[in-house]
Amino acid sequence: MQAEVIAIGDELTSGQRLDTNSRWISRELALLGIPVVFHTTACDTIAAGVEALRAAVGRADVVIATGGLGPTADDLTREVLAAVVGVPLELVPEAVKAIRSRFARRGMPMPESNRRQAMLPQGSRLINNPTGTAPGIDLDCRRADGTRSRVFSLPGVPSEMHIMWRETVQPALLAMQPEAGTIQFRCLKCFGAGESAIEEMLPDLIRRGREPAVGITAHEATITLRIAARGADAAACAAAIAPVEATIRECLGPLVFGTDDDDVEDAAVRSLLAAGQTLASIEIGTAGRVAALLAQAMARSGDGHTVPAVAAGYRGGHVLVPEAARSGDTAAVALAERARVEFGTAIGLGVGAERPVADGRRAIDIAIADIDGTHEIEHVVGGGPSLALARAAKTATDLIRHRLREGEHS
Ligand code: ATP
Repeated sequence: MQAEVIAIGDELTSGQRLDTNSRWISRELALLGIPVVFHTTACDTIAAGVEALRAAVGRADVVIATGGLGPTADDLTREVLAAVVGVPLELVPEAVKAIRSRFARRGMPMPESNRRQAMLPQGSRLINNPTGTAPGIDLDCRRADGTRSRVFSLPGVPSEMHIMWRETVQPALLAMQPEAGTIQFRCLKCFGAGESAIEEMLPDLIRRGREPAVGITAHEATITLRIAARGADAAACAAAIAPVEATIRECLGPLVFGTDDDDVEDAAVRSLLAAGQTLASIEIGTAGRVAALLAQAMARSGDGHTVPAVAAGYRGGHVLVPEAARSGDTAAVALAERARVEFGTAIGLGVGAERPVADGRRAIDIAIADIDGTHEIEHVVGGGPSLALARAAKTATDLIRHRLREGEHS
């Protein structure tokens, strides 16, 4: 079984936006053992779409297309699919219902233009979109010689597309090759080293064609290692994943902070709650990002309705801008101590202002203070402005987990 990936949109062909969907889909297909033979990008015209799709169904058994399913007149993927198969578009009541209920949940009536999104090529199957309005389309295209190609058309918005892939497309592709059994994933999350450094620490694991496959991706300096195991059933997959996970944990040690949807701040809050400790922060160089991360992680750690009875966790923080911080001691260590005193917490976290260091580089001091004293690190700022801010805030947040780990071992 061979696949082709098509990305549709003027934004892509004009170079305004990078086509990350095709890359994501190709990686997913590789994990399913389905080779991708072509990537095609087409603009938002019927002619270009039809040409691209016609070529794809002629040479690939499976075609995954993204984009062009929106409600506006330039979203033409539905028309393109109908033209290639030679069928009309028809209004699917189930799709109208799904779109209407999506708007109802936001307390809004469905705009008339969104009815367009419920017009699907005759004979196609609807792919449920749990987080957006545009349903996806699953369509069989018959070739002149009687063989078929199966087209999955998904919205362009990456987050919507990812969920639809996991819930519908991936199981459908597995069902198309029953001999491949099933597939299970396990994600390990790491922070504190770059993608290539982590790759070097895992000799041979991230090799192409290895079983189970281990993929590596990075988002705002958080590294995700995803183990994908294929096997006859879930138990066989879990058995294949276990030794790989053990090897990764052994090689990376405390760089691994969690699994699946966890991020650095969730691990920090978890270790605070487990240790029964309280924390407050005062930050200058991270513009409130540390407080936001920790407050959000606290909200996620509860059930959303009840405030945990335990008097542990993140209590709050102050955000200072460099101008306002001029009076008083603004060293990270002093800020950490001040946070402890002002909020009456066991631990204080202080983030100093960005300052120049050698070779034109810039750094931010980050300190943590508790009953045993203070600990300070110098974080060298790197990456573009938004990545630099995210990295600095995550580095500060991750210091909490490391400090509490040390406490456990001392
Ligand atoms: P919706 O109805 O939800 O808008 P759609 O199928 O119409 O979905 P598009 O209008 O084509 O999607 O794209 C919506 C947004 O999704 C784009 O503005 C862009 O941000 C993103 N997007 C689309 N295609 C890609 C792609 N190939 N790679 C990355 N991002 C993409």
